[in-house]
Amino acid sequence: PLQRPPAVAASRLLLPIVAEEQQLLETVLLNTVSVVCGETGSGKTTQVPGMLYEAGFGSPGSDNPGMIAVTQPRRVAAMSTAQRVSYELALPPPLVAHAVRYDQTTAPETRIKFVTDGVLLRELASDFLLERYSVVIVDEAHERTLGTDVLVGVLSRVVKLRERRFVEGTGKPLRLIIMSATLRISDFTSNTVLFPTPPPLIHVPARQHPVTVHFSRRTAPDYVAEAVRKVERIHTRLPGGGVLVFLTGQREIELVCKRLERRWGRKEMERRRRASLAAGDDAPVAVSARLGDVEAEEVDLGERGDEIAADEDGDLGEDVNSDDEYNVEDEEGDEKPSETDAFDVPMHILPLYSLLPGDKQMRVFQDPPADARLIVVATNVAETSLTIPAIRYVVDSGRAKERKYDISSGIQSYQVSWESKASAAQRAGRAGRTGPGHCYRLYSSAVFENHFEPFAQPEILRMPIEGVVLQMKSMNIDAVVNFPFPTPPDRMALRKAESLLVHLGALEPPSPGNKDNALSGRITELGKAMALFPVAPRFAKMLVAGKQHGCLPYVIAIVAGLSVGDPFLREDVIGQKDDDGAREDEDMDDELANIKNEDLRAKEERKRRRKAFFDSQAAYAALGNGTSDIFRILAVVGAYEYEGGTASFCAKHFVRPKAMEEMRKLRAQITAIVRANFGDIVPPFAPRLDPPSEVQLKALRQLLTAGFVDHVAVRKDVAYPASATGAKYASCRGVAYRALGVDEDVFVHPSSVLFHGLPPEYLLFLEVVRTSKPYIKTLTVVN
Ligand code: ADP
Ligand code: MG
Repeated sequence: PLQRPPAVAASRLLLPIVAEEQQLLETVLLNTVSVVCGETGSGKTTQVPGMLYEAGFGSPGSDNPGMIAVTQPRRVAAMSTAQRVSYELALPPPLVAHAVRYDQTTAPETRIKFVTDGVLLRELASDFLLERYSVVIVDEAHERTLGTDVLVGVLSRVVKLRERRFVEGTGKPLRLIIMSATLRISDFTSNTVLFPTPPPLIHVPARQHPVTVHFSRRTAPDYVAEAVRKVERIHTRLPGGGVLVFLTGQREIELVCKRLERRWGRKEMERRRRASLAAGDDAPVAVSARLGDVEAEEVDLGERGDEIAADEDGDLGEDVNSDDEYNVEDEEGDEKPSETDAFDVPMHILPLYSLLPGDKQMRVFQDPPADARLIVVATNVAETSLTIPAIRYVVDSGRAKERKYDISSGIQSYQVSWESKASAAQRAGRAGRTGPGHCYRLYSSAVFENHFEPFAQPEILRMPIEGVVLQMKSMNIDAVVNFPFPTPPDRMALRKAESLLVHLGALEPPSPGNKDNALSGRITELGKAMALFPVAPRFAKMLVAGKQHGCLPYVIAIVAGLSVGDPFLREDVIGQKDDDGAREDEDMDDELANIKNEDLRAKEERKRRRKAFFDSQAAYAALGNGTSDIFRILAVVGAYEYEGGTASFCAKHFVRPKAMEEMRKLRAQITAIVRANFGDIVPPFAPRLDPPSEVQLKALRQLLTAGFVDHVAVRKDVAYPASATGAKYASCRGVAYRALGVDEDVFVHPSSVLFHGLPPEYLLFLEVVRTSKPYIKTLTVVN
């Protein structure tokens, strides 16, 4: 029997899922696979694991003694939901625990285990029947991440095998529960390759309050400025209630927060009040809208707010209001007294994105100060996996940043594009959790109708898949083409993945003449060893191959560094990240920088920070004499640990503390895997890492060359002497390179240690990323 904290016991009864408890348990007990579908916030994630636990799942000696697993696509979600459920059920860790790539709190006593889908996939490689579990809940299946899709495919088979064992009397069954927010579940329910008989669907009726959707009359290209404007208007003219703003990424979010803070932050409001008191003005009064008992509908947001524009059609199933084209003049300068000058409710502004440290992310769940309005500026993290309380207004930019990957060239890009209609509906829904709400869309209904896809593309169609292919092979799924994917990947993507794995030695090469075999290569011993590591196959190969010269601790640090990703805060210091002119950050905040002096001081400060940034970059580039971005990462890991891994080190040297911490955890974890599987070829993990010797550096360079032979770029005038102009080079800026498999010129990314030096003839690169043009990143000179 569970002892929920009293506050939880009361409030959970209000969650829609609780009314479905009986039906849910019956369905789950009678079926090996069930699908639960319900609006975000209906209580799926926090309540279903507890219901199963109370029904005996996870209790030793019961019919279902195995653990309850709950998978999440994101690490943050796995950790925060574990924490929440542990608190709600009063089952402290390790009874309710989490396991993610960098961290785990599990123990033999664990009953409910929150994991990322990647972690469970890796467990499947060593225990294909998942014998330690009685039920697996695949949560947030609508997100259609690569891991989730593969997991559902594998589990559909595992469930069958366990069922057979059960019928034969040699084991207990395993149940699979797929949980999803939006209704795109047909890929799971009507896919007969996946589930020959469609699994039963438990639909949780939404107890959602009505949300009035307002389209913009026109679609402003500068949605960041538009978002700021909209929030200000909501804040000054509409009744109380939190505002949730959806943007695409960290930089935009920080910018919007900064702009709002400068004008509406508590500090600024107080400064203004003091200034106006000192000037002898009357004490400012708050506008009635917020204090009075007014409904948003009653407030005329704009001068022409009640006028419905011609291009607005009301048949979207939702109440469509024309958006207001307000006067924006009152935004400029402080000289004109306006409504907003007299308004004295501060904003409580919180950013929310995945790179934000965990404790800062959790701030959105805390009550905002009573006298302030909560403003959360978020990426689509806030779309389905985190439910922020007390949001009444949503401002939706309509955009999302997506990682795209071109299968034939391998070029990646992060593109800001229109979100899907499903996402737009999700975002709007966030406003109706606690009462009727409003969603302001920063785009027109015509754009919505004509340019928004119904659903986002599953990740498997836009990501490299060699990692999951290797994992499947390590589970002895040889014929990946026949695998029951919810959405099958492109054939060419499969073939590419297999040929890379053959090339790395992880798969047996196809026998000549046997065409089919090209897609069913068997895993080699080397491949099996590679699959043990929670990193990309190319990196795993470096680990398995990197045993000579006492190099392994360095190889581990490099692999950990590359897997976690660039720790440098270049973007924050230099401004525009991908501009190879490395031009001055065109301060988009100028419109708000009202005091000239402050502006100048800020410029000076930026200059100083840029210089400090470049100085510290130069110091790290010294390892390997400025010939490798990878050695720069190694150098920063070494320096960070040498100084005891402190936050002040990170601040001083412009690196992300979270990234550095993750690197250390991943180093520890890889070291443990190496020792467990290959014996004492590395010493037990110690954070400290002395600089490598010349001999070791040389060995490391050879290892990198071996790992990246297919990722070599050649300077264009060397590759095509005819194209040489004979011009002298001053730096890498604008110098074209050619890379295998890429049909266009590529360029050295300005973040590289090589960028300001003379362009080398041959370079190894980790990836090609397209921004304004295709850039090669994370480079090492080959000589
Ligand atoms: P679903 O999975 O169906 O989207 P959840 O179970 O995540 O729904 O959320 C149910 C309720 O629990 C929501 O009202 C949400 O705000 C609340 N909740 C979830 N996580 C936390 C947390 N860490 N702290 C406080 N409240 C939370
Ligand atoms: Mg959920």
